[in-house]
Amino acid sequence: MKKEIDPRMHSAEHILNQTMSRMFCCGRCFRAHIEKKKSKCDYHFDRTLTEQEIKQIEKCVNDVIQADMLVMEEYITREESQKHYNLERLPKNVGDAIRIVKIGDYDVCPCIGPHVSSTKEIGKFQIVSVSFDNGVLRIRYKLANLDNQGRRLRKKSNCCVTLHLSSLRCTGKYASFLKIRKPCIWNFLLCRPIFDFLRVHQR
Ligand SMILES: [Zn+2]
Repeated sequence: MKKEIDPRMHSAEHILNQTMSRMFCCGRCFRAHIEKKKSKCDYHFDRTLTEQEIKQIEKCVNDVIQADMLVMEEYITREESQKHYNLERLPKNVGDAIRIVKIGDYDVCPCIGPHVSSTKEIGKFQIVSVSFDNGVLRIRYKLANLDNQGRRLRKKSNCCVTLHLSSLRCTGKYASFLKIRKPCIWNFLLCRPIFDFLRVHQR
């Protein structure tokens, strides 16, 4: 996996994989090319998709994006992760602490790449084309540009996490919470009200 992978495209890939897995029981893609403008995912499959199925996939993925689910991470041991997940797509040298990325209660998957903080940052998901060749279904997709709403959300969540750090003077105990990708639950329970209070009173 490339280092400079686009977080929006990458989170969209995870949601697409879970959607495909739920709809067709085909599992996650076995190969993916994640690029900033257009990405593609390849699935082991037995046919191409109908127009209706393509629309259904788009709707499912966009529903998850619109639900603005938090993207969180946790680390578990390799032994534990092998019981629940397929680690084939992870590089061999990731060590014994395996990072698990969760998208709300929709998707969970071992992963080393960067992600958005919450799904609304992804923007609108659109399938560009679908092709089928020799047992491989290829889905190409793109994302609509971030609207102002998305940018505002991201800016706000960054501020909140900074406030969280300074207001709590994080000790080692709190630091483990911060391993969770921002904005974590603290953002909503604690930091966002503080941020909103300061913003209102600074005017
Ligand atoms: Zn990933």
